[in-house]
Amino acid sequence: MRSVDVIIVGASLAAAAAAKRLVDAGLETVILERQELPRHKICSGILSPRGYRFLIENFGPLPKKALHDPTWCRGVTFHFPCLIPMPMDFFGGTTPHLHRKYSDYWAIKRSAAEVMDKTSLVGLDDQGTRVVVTARQQSGETIKMAARYVIGADGPSSAVRKAIYPEYTKQIPWFFVGQKFHEIIDCPLDEEYFHFWFHPELGHYTWSHARDGRQIVGVGFKQGDNFNQRHLHVTAYLEEKHGVKLKPADPDHEGCAENFGPSLINKYIFGKDNVLLTGQSTGFLNMIGEGMSCALHSGAIAGESIVESICRNQPVQTVYRQMISSEVRRTTDQWNPLMIAFGRPHEADFPKALMALSRQDRIKVLKDIWRFLLLYKEFRWGRQLAYSSLQRILRGKYLSQRWL
Ligand SMILES: Cc1cc2nc3c(=O)[nH]c(=O)nc-3n(C[C@H](O)[C@H](O)[C@H](O)COP(=O)(O)OP(=O)(O)OC[C@H]3O[C@@H](n4cnc5c(N)ncnc54)[C@H](O)[C@@H]3O)c2cc1C
Repeated sequence: MRSVDVIIVGASLAAAAAAKRLVDAGLETVILERQELPRHKICSGILSPRGYRFLIENFGPLPKKALHDPTWCRGVTFHFPCLIPMPMDFFGGTTPHLHRKYSDYWAIKRSAAEVMDKTSLVGLDDQGTRVVVTARQQSGETIKMAARYVIGADGPSSAVRKAIYPEYTKQIPWFFVGQKFHEIIDCPLDEEYFHFWFHPELGHYTWSHARDGRQIVGVGFKQGDNFNQRHLHVTAYLEEKHGVKLKPADPDHEGCAENFGPSLINKYIFGKDNVLLTGQSTGFLNMIGEGMSCALHSGAIAGESIVESICRNQPVQTVYRQMISSEVRRTTDQWNPLMIAFGRPHEADFPKALMALSRQDRIKVLKDIWRFLLLYKEFRWGRQLAYSSLQRILRGKYLSQRWL
């Protein structure tokens, strides 16, 4: 059986960042990816300024192929039932509109790790001094490999997480997010912005933006609802309230399951013994579903933690949990109402945009945000969020005892 230093499962941005750190430290690193590379990834592709800095600093300038058209995004516009728009520019200028199929592949190649695509993880056995990984190739062949460490960078529905915590998937609420693509007849929504609706009747997560000459209409809701009906409802709303005239959706729609929640209530899942989780498999997700920057940063920290644990001869989970706390702070701060009110956790200035409104409009917007938040009441996140927010103020950090 082949034996390497580290196996990373999933060839995405978290994986690329982790691999870069490991390969730079001289560790033999193999990435397993279930799809054929370059692979498609459902994503709006709006990278935060911090994520953009990470890509440039670690992998160099982005190739043109890694961008959609429009190639850049200026900021985010929030919309509310009261129809008062709140455009907010990103700090430090525009950010790239990533074409995930090519940006991820480019970053993976720049990491210089060995990649085995069309190879899906199916099982793990942590034997203490090594982890034996079982994977199935698209040809049908089953392979076994051993590594000192395994990193699960395999996204929200992580197979690595399922292997070490089989019960976890049933313990958190799941959402479906789906998007359809439309030819545009007339679209008054500014194409330089990502548009997001705080509207309880539209769903838990509603967005729209321009891409490669078409308009994306995206909907997110608790799993079990009907995608087509939700999408038709939002499209009709956009036409009625915003004058967005679109042709019927093209056939190439897509959707997936999402784990909103763990970041909000500081309930991350970082792995067990020699198996680390990173990126969205841990629950890292910034507000408005921005997950690329925390995937990149947490991936790099996972890689560094392995290097550090070898150098310091300490258990990797201890090192990882110390080092990841900075990323937890950054991500969970984005959901923390106290930090939103008194700090500046986002990379666009929400308090400033709110204060720029007239007093009357501000009250309308705040009422609409409150009504939107009530949509999430059934998940009982309120108390946990209040508790975490208070701990952050009192202790300057989020409690690691809440992590798995
Ligand atoms: C509709 C939508 C829009 C979004 N828009 C944005 C946005 O505009 N900006 C932003 O920052 N974020 C956005 N996100 C979130 C962002 O896409 C994710 O947070 C981010 O990609 C997470 O990165 P990751 O590296 O953790 O994992 P992922 O990108 O999820 O990648 C996981 C990889 O693991 C592979 N894999 C899975 N299972 C296995 C297995 N068993 N064996 C081998 N490989 C496996 C997958 O094929 C995939 O390549 C969006 C998400 C969705 C769904």
